[in-house]
Amino acid sequence: MRWTEAGLAMALAGFGGAFGQAARPAAPQAAQPSESMATATQPQTETHFAVVLDAAHGGSDTGARLGNGALEKNLTLTMAERLQELLRQQGIVATMTRRADVDVSALTRAEVANHAQAAVCLVIHATATGSGVHLFTTSLAPAGGSGTGQPVTAAGPRILPWATAQAAYVTDSLKLESELDAALVHAEIPVTMGRASVAPMENLACPTVAVELAPLAPGNTTRGRAITDGRYEKAVEGALAAAIGSWRTDRKEQ
Ligand SMILES: [Zn+2]
Repeated sequence: MRWTEAGLAMALAGFGGAFGQAARPAAPQAAQPSESMATATQPQTETHFAVVLDAAHGGSDTGARLGNGALEKNLTLTMAERLQELLRQQGIVATMTRRADVDVSALTRAEVANHAQAAVCLVIHATATGSGVHLFTTSLAPAGGSGTGQPVTAAGPRILPWATAQAAYVTDSLKLESELDAALVHAEIPVTMGRASVAPMENLACPTVAVELAPLAPGNTTRGRAITDGRYEKAVEGALAAAIGSWRTDRKEQ
């Protein structure tokens, strides 16, 4: 297993034992490995590992209606806030593109992300359709490959055209996506992966994945969950945090 036991416990604790054979009984603090308690009280901040969380929509842009009066713009913000806290407990600093219910342009979001020189950017969306978590990476072809129309030779990311900045990070973004996929699947959350152009992804000069939360459809070993189900959301956030933790570990080992 490449993700940490602490992160995994976090991911599984959210289900409270309701999710089939891999689920564990809810025992919030006592079941946590002592190591995770230590990191929670004494976070060791990584100066060279920045994360950017982009809570999509906001302000006049409400995003999708998710049922029961829930709006996508509110869910994306609360998810980002809770994920930021989970990362903080691992000593990882996450920058938010917005911290309140305000309009933020795609340009501003990209500027925040690129200024942070992030190792991970997650663009967070939610939808009332589908099931589980939908992961999207850019539809751009990798820089230097065919199809971009942007011949990139020795050019570094800094001088890539703004509109296709993500093209230089396609390989890393796909690796990040598979890290997220592994952690989510391990937490028994169904994952659908695709390529899409989701603003401001194409402008981001960092490994970037769009994470779209959908309700959980009932499965063979699992029961259905509304998108606003707190335990479901916690399980997703725990898995995302675990994946980012192991992404950091992988990069240290390189
Ligand atoms: Zn959205």
